[in-house]
Amino acid sequence: MEECIFCKIVKGEIPSEKVYENDSVYAFKDISPEAPVHVLIIPKKHIKSINEITREDSEILLEVFLAASKIAEMNGIKEDGYRLVSNCGDRAGQTVKHLHFHFLGGRDLKWPPG
Ligand code: AMP
Ligand code: ZN
Repeated sequence: MEECIFCKIVKGEIPSEKVYENDSVYAFKDISPEAPVHVLIIPKKHIKSINEITREDSEILLEVFLAASKIAEMNGIKEDGYRLVSNCGDRAGQTVKHLHFHFLGGRDLKWPPG
């Protein structure tokens, strides 16, 4: 996936502000934050969206959720509350076609989202 910007971020070819990393996931600050804490958690493997996830990816997905919990702890908002959301497809507003989870926290979050 030569042209994928998130694959390039994982490879260090595009700079990012790393928040957390392990063998299968990478987390970095969103360039256009919508909350005081806005981190993108992505699998290092190129998966286009939720629709392309297979059972083989289950370990990676677990790592995404464990990373979210760690990031909440690192930011002191684990008990406070936060949101993890993945936009899938054009109608949901997915602009980058590499699976990613928005970690949002540090303020009151409205429900439902727009
Ligand atoms: P989505 O609209 O759900 O596909 O989310 C894509 C997110 O990626 C947006 O919130 C963008 O602000 C963010 N984004 C795009 N390019 C970069 C980048 N180079 N570094 C950090 N975040 C980015
Ligand atoms: Zn990619």
